[in-house]
Amino acid sequence: MFMHPINFRIPHFVKRLSLALLAGIVLCSCSQESSAPKIKVMLLTGQSSKYHNWELSSLLLEKRLSALDLFEVTKVVSPAQGEDFSGFNPEFASYDVVVLDYEGDSWPESAQKGLEAFVGGGGGLVSVHATDNSFADWPAFNEMIGVGGWGGRGDDFGPKIHWFDGKAQLLNTPGSAMHPPKHDFEIVTRAPEHPIMKGLPARWLHPNDEIYSRLRGPAKNVTILATAKADKAKLDKGTDNHEPMLMDIRYGDGRVFHTTLGHCNTKDDERVPSLNCVGFITTLLRGTEWAATGKVTQAVPHDFPAAEAVSIREQ
Ligand code: ZN
Repeated sequence: MFMHPINFRIPHFVKRLSLALLAGIVLCSCSQESSAPKIKVMLLTGQSSKYHNWELSSLLLEKRLSALDLFEVTKVVSPAQGEDFSGFNPEFASYDVVVLDYEGDSWPESAQKGLEAFVGGGGGLVSVHATDNSFADWPAFNEMIGVGGWGGRGDDFGPKIHWFDGKAQLLNTPGSAMHPPKHDFEIVTRAPEHPIMKGLPARWLHPNDEIYSRLRGPAKNVTILATAKADKAKLDKGTDNHEPMLMDIRYGDGRVFHTTLGHCNTKDDERVPSLNCVGFITTLLRGTEWAATGKVTQAVPHDFPAAEAVSIREQ
């Protein structure tokens, strides 16, 4: 049987682990300084709907990821909407983690199978905001992100997942994805011992973003890390449910970090608060490291937001 060559490559994260072990042996004998190879990050972007702005969001994601010495970031831009995707086949196996900031055309089967093999084989994946609007007709992708919204996801697209009675629970009541208008809202930590969340405050304020609500999907192997709630009485399209904002999803041997935060559109500029929120940045960077390695080595920054006040990074 013919198998695509991608299946025979040694994944980069395996090579990195081997190098790290080798480096550890060398360091033990001659130096105290760390020289562990960087985590190789593919930031994959290139399309968004008219409600979003991938050029701006990917610029800010790249800026934050690249600022950390831990990561080596390569930006991969897909063909534009409606263009030929026949040559689109990202080299996932050369990376430790893929950060997806993409809402657009379907991928050819070879690219889909490539991502499935990468994540299923132990690679990391990060899904940012409207990425979970994509690929409703790609079952494995929906397993990777746990739940998604819009793009053809109706009431029969699987359960919703909410936090109530102190735990994550699946709901099969009617109603598909919606969100209230952008506003400042409180994020509540639900898994304080998880590596991404460890040391973060129990509650913090996030600026001018969308509370993605009533997302649906297979909702398998999902751990809710943080939630937010939109008050029905005060907000159009509020649900009164504690909706998942940050999630850990397992797919095969791989780890997925899904953040529903990070809205921006073509009216925004580089100062857009949602993406410059220290809470967004911190969880993005920690989530990317965790998806790649299963661990988080980053300290909580001193300017992390409090329950009463947002914290927006200006540089
Ligand atoms: Zn949005």
